[in-house]
Amino acid sequence: MSALLVAEGLAKHFPVRTGSFLRRSTMPLRAVDGVDLSIDAGETLGLVGESGCGKSTLGRLLIRLIEPTAGRIVFDGTEITGLDARAMRAHRRGMQIIFQDPYGALNPRMTVEDIIMEPLLIHGAKPDAAARAKVAEVLGLVGLPARAAERFPHEFSGGQRQRVGIARALVLRPKLVVCDEPVSALDVSVQAQIVNLLQDLQGELGLTLLFIAHDLSVVKHISDRVAVMYLGGVVEIADKRAIYAAPLHPYTQALIAAVPALRPSARGRGKRVRLAGDIPSALDPPSGCRFHTRCPHVMDRCRVTAPVLRPAAPGHSVACHLVDQGADINGGLVE
Ligand code: SF4
Repeated sequence: MSALLVAEGLAKHFPVRTGSFLRRSTMPLRAVDGVDLSIDAGETLGLVGESGCGKSTLGRLLIRLIEPTAGRIVFDGTEITGLDARAMRAHRRGMQIIFQDPYGALNPRMTVEDIIMEPLLIHGAKPDAAARAKVAEVLGLVGLPARAAERFPHEFSGGQRQRVGIARALVLRPKLVVCDEPVSALDVSVQAQIVNLLQDLQGELGLTLLFIAHDLSVVKHISDRVAVMYLGGVVEIADKRAIYAAPLHPYTQALIAAVPALRPSARGRGKRVRLAGDIPSALDPPSGCRFHTRCPHVMDRCRVTAPVLRPAAPGHSVACHLVDQGADINGGLVE
């Protein structure tokens, strides 16, 4: 498979005002801080991490909904960082996003037909029979009846509204879709339906998906590979089977331990890792390894030197000094 999207050294620092009235200063909030990532054409990459780790910012950066502070993005063979708005428009239709809140993302005063047609009009189509036919076709793709076109968002359930959001993202027939926590706001009973729908659409339309979630159990079903993010950086990325069967980064192990059905101990392997404390502020991230304030394996060097994301096995990269040393942290997880 060839890469559809490649990001190198991608960073987004938001200036934040701090201090009192007399001692006011501006500090960078390092939401994303030097991420290298590639997504192959036709694959689904799961991106997980706690709230505030920068995963949604990274998703928006990758499709240039927000501008990076540093780094470069190559999409479908073209470097899109630095393209002006006009040049970017040609690539914009190839990369779309599905938002977390299906209600907030849909204009309540527009009919479903107008909502789904809007991207077509932005990209030069006329509101004619051909455009209406495209709306009807994409409604069918997401499992909604053609008569849904005349109705308004408030007339639908949360799951149906998310189907409208998916239809809106797909009407331009993009290559890449960033799914930004698309099931987090939905009832558990509906989540599986939407994940299955996205998986079916991915196969049917040959889509490439970046599926963002805060929980490893949500991305398990749909992902080919999984990237784990902590405080602005990717700490582990691997094939799905490797991530769930033999996670190497202590943070990934802790995330898995937080979900009973995923725990190695639940399958008779290993012990539980407990994650102490909250995620530190991206305004003042810890020195060295950013995970060192919560890591059960922390060593002196972790507080000083940041580990680099590097291959630990074919297709499996980890940013951890312990893994660099060849330690078997899978067999020695702390209780
Ligand atoms: Fe823990 Fe050190 Fe590895 Fe960071 S580098 S995850 S602190 S062992």
